[in-house]
Amino acid sequence: TTAFLNNAYMPLEQASISPMDRGFLFGDGIYEVIPTHYGKPIGLQAHLSRMSDGLAELQIDNPYSAQQWQTLIDTLIQRNRSELGSDYIGVYLQITRGTVMSRQHAYPQDITPTVFGYGFTLAAPPATTPEQVTTLDVALLKDRRWERCHIKSTSLLGNVMHFEQGKAQGKQEAILLNAHDEVTEASSCNVFVVWQGDIYTPPLDYQLLPGITRKLVIESLAKEGIAVYEQVISKTMLLQAQEVWLTSSSKEITPVTHIDEQTIGEGQAGPVWEAALAAFNKHKFTL
Ligand code: PLP
Repeated sequence: TTAFLNNAYMPLEQASISPMDRGFLFGDGIYEVIPTHYGKPIGLQAHLSRMSDGLAELQIDNPYSAQQWQTLIDTLIQRNRSELGSDYIGVYLQITRGTVMSRQHAYPQDITPTVFGYGFTLAAPPATTPEQVTTLDVALLKDRRWERCHIKSTSLLGNVMHFEQGKAQGKQEAILLNAHDEVTEASSCNVFVVWQGDIYTPPLDYQLLPGITRKLVIESLAKEGIAVYEQVISKTMLLQAQEVWLTSSSKEITPVTHIDEQTIGEGQAGPVWEAALAAFNKHKFTL
């Protein structure tokens, strides 16, 4: 595995940073995961733009130009594709505020951000038919995270604890409900439901990550003349839905068939999911 750390490429085993990095001390940084298939990134511009937004929100100067990011990402794809022997490579990028000499809450001035990246083998994309796709059973949990979930922060303990709570119940993910019993997102995915024949996903705000797959799904469906309503999804709508899907860079669009004890729809991947994945696969490299 080839990694990138502070302007140099190296084998992942040789990459190391100080324990005084604010990423380690405070979770003071952001990250991105960019999926690539056969050397081609999916949603690259959208990932770079979300990264810039996150850096701006944290008041960390973007250390590289768009061209430099592009070169870095391309290099990690090329090298890791051959080293890992996979056509499905995920590129992980992380930027922290940097390494300090003393631990203080205040943002230090004149500090150089730490930039880290590496490539990993991505799970193969989901099968495209209801008969073949692997579906998910998920838990339904109260969202106990903070009110800045739109930032792709490396401080993921809230998400990790939710995922683990679902896992302890024998589930593969957890869908989260806010204090008003409205769906926010899952511990590492966005949520879509098909309800009374229409497709819904929660509107973007501080309660959820603006997922790039979410965006590409909405845009792919729009190109096929199918609307997605960005509207609040109540717990009732979720549990009465004909279909529920989770979206993320690694899962693309994956159907959910059970939420806690409840069976969703017919308990199998549905026709709207099949059409959505077909639209996504048709447009994902060109959006
Ligand atoms: N929501 C959360 C909390 C996530 O961690 C992720 C991705 O890992 C997503 C949603 C999906 O985002 P994307 O489609 O950009 O991978």
